Amino acid sequence: MTLDDIKDRCFITEEGCWEWRGALSDGRWPRVHAPNHSKPGSPKEVQGGRRAVWQIATGKPIPKGWRVFGTCNCETCLNPEHMDSGTTAKVGRFTRRTGRFKCNPARIAANRRLGRNRAALTAEQVAAIQQSDEPGTVWAKRLNVSRQTVSRARNGLMVSLASANPFAGLVKP
Ligand SMILES: [Zn+2]
Repeated sequence: MTLDDIKDRCFITEEGCWEWRGALSDGRWPRVHAPNHSKPGSPKEVQGGRRAVWQIATGKPIPKGWRVFGTCNCETCLNPEHMDSGTTAKVGRFTRRTGRFKCNPARIAANRRLGRNRAALTAEQVAAIQQSDEPGTVWAKRLNVSRQTVSRARNGLMVSLASANPFAGLVKP
C-alpha cells in the first residue's frame, strides 16, 4: 500500500481532503491495511487510517504515546498533509485552538454533491443542523430522527459510506 494507493481509494474534495472510501470502523473511522512499523517486524495489519498513512509516509514507527490526528474538518480524510502527530497534550491544544465541530460550508457543499444524505436527511436539513446552535435533542424531535443521526449530520458524516462504496471489496486485509 502506497500513498497513491490510498489516494486512489479516496474521493478528493475541493478543499483537498482525501475522503476514504474503504472500510470504516463504527461507520466512521478509516481502516487501512498497511505495515505497522510501530511493532517489531513491521507486520501488515489493519490500523486506524491516519496511523497507517503516517507510517507509510514516514516509513517510521509512531513514537510511543503519540497520536496522529486530523487538522481538517473531515473525519475520514487521509491526506497526509491534513494530519499532525504528537502527544495527547498537543492534540488537546490543537482541538482547543481550532474548535472541533465548527461549520464548514465547503464540506456541506461536498456532502450535497455526493448525495450522501439521502438515507435519513436532506442536504438542506443537514446544513440547517450544522449551522444551528440548538441541541441535538431539539433537532431529533423536530425531524423525527435519532439523536445519533443528528450528531452525525452535525459532524459532517451523514451515513456510512459502506452502501455506496465503489471500492468495497478492494480493501481487504
Ligand atoms: Zn482533509
